[in-house]
Amino acid sequence: MGIVKSQWLEQEERGWQDPETWVCQHCIGEDSHLRQLVRKNLGGVSCSYCKSKTRKAAPIAVLMAAVLFGVKYSYNDEANAGCPYDREFNIEYMSSRDVLEQVLDVEGLDWSDALKNDVAEAFANTGWVDAPDGDWMGSYNHERLHWSWESFAHAVKFQSRFHFQTRKRPRSYSDDLVSVHEMLPFLGQLVRQHSMVRKLPVATILQRVRPGKHPHSVLELGPPPKEKASAGRMNPAGIPYLYLAYDEKTALAETRSKKGDQVTISQWSPIRDLHVIDLSCFPRCPSVFSDKRREHDLVQFLYKFTDEISKPVAHDGSEHIEYVPTQVVSEYFAQAFKHAKSKRVDGLIYPSAVAQDGRNLVLFPQYDDGQATHTHEAFAAMELNVSRSGRVNSCGNTVI
Ligand SMILES: [Zn+2]
Repeated sequence: MGIVKSQWLEQEERGWQDPETWVCQHCIGEDSHLRQLVRKNLGGVSCSYCKSKTRKAAPIAVLMAAVLFGVKYSYNDEANAGCPYDREFNIEYMSSRDVLEQVLDVEGLDWSDALKNDVAEAFANTGWVDAPDGDWMGSYNHERLHWSWESFAHAVKFQSRFHFQTRKRPRSYSDDLVSVHEMLPFLGQLVRQHSMVRKLPVATILQRVRPGKHPHSVLELGPPPKEKASAGRMNPAGIPYLYLAYDEKTALAETRSKKGDQVTISQWSPIRDLHVIDLSCFPRCPSVFSDKRREHDLVQFLYKFTDEISKPVAHDGSEHIEYVPTQVVSEYFAQAFKHAKSKRVDGLIYPSAVAQDGRNLVLFPQYDDGQATHTHEAFAAMELNVSRSGRVNSCGNTVI
């Protein structure tokens, strides 16, 4: 076989040819994996795109396999994507430049036109079809995990509230990756695997708002007594949890306080270090160009899951059903989940649905040591510092 033919075969097999240009870290943008590849392969040649005299560059060939891998997460060639031969299906074909642009857009990378052209022209394939996870009829694993969560939410809302784990149901849909009875341990595993339990130190100050004017006392400003506890985002009726926010504005927004409303704001701190699951601080999502695809999809699912459990819910009576999935998950984390050294967690941090960038903390009650009889005793780990009453001012965030 001639050299030219064997080179051609090699290019066809690996799916790209060498553009024979050089690129620097600056031109490749903020993708950790691509940057690392450039960094590891820097040579003495200047970048073919920005022509910088000071920045070192690496041959683009070292990136081509990773870029192609990233493109193939969402697109594929017709033959390998499993497209039907039946022409009644209207299959849309895209150019290499189109699919590359789409992938770069999703990843937030802004490459120059020259760089995009060189990389796109180096792909051996020229006609692409939509193919999530490589398959024309496929779906991403993070989507399949999300559908599994939706099946779980549907089951506990409308089918079985208390015994959904005892019956080993088949997956609701063939695309679900996790069945209903497996969902809670799966979430627990995700939290452990991503080290999402963190220490809440004694010095932490948290805010709580109670509508109306109330005296400075734990009984008045703490969680309601069991008999009066209505259902909330994380707690079922009759089992009060202590809801707190990281700042006053969030606490006011969470209680739907409006300008002119009379409220009492109280500050609370833990009297010992607490351990809480933090759903407001995500693990970093691996690059779509790296081979950590499974991890990439798990983190994508975590983003979506947190959106779902903190989404706004209308307070028109439907909340009694809509909050059930988050109540079931919270109770699992409160009663069954163990983090390091078989320790239980004290609560859960979650993003606010109503205050931008706001964070909430919900604390689980501790009734199991035989000590707590009253609601406030079940939250003995928290101390009431100060409180003040007043009306919400025109900025809607402080009390005058
Ligand atoms: Zn450059």
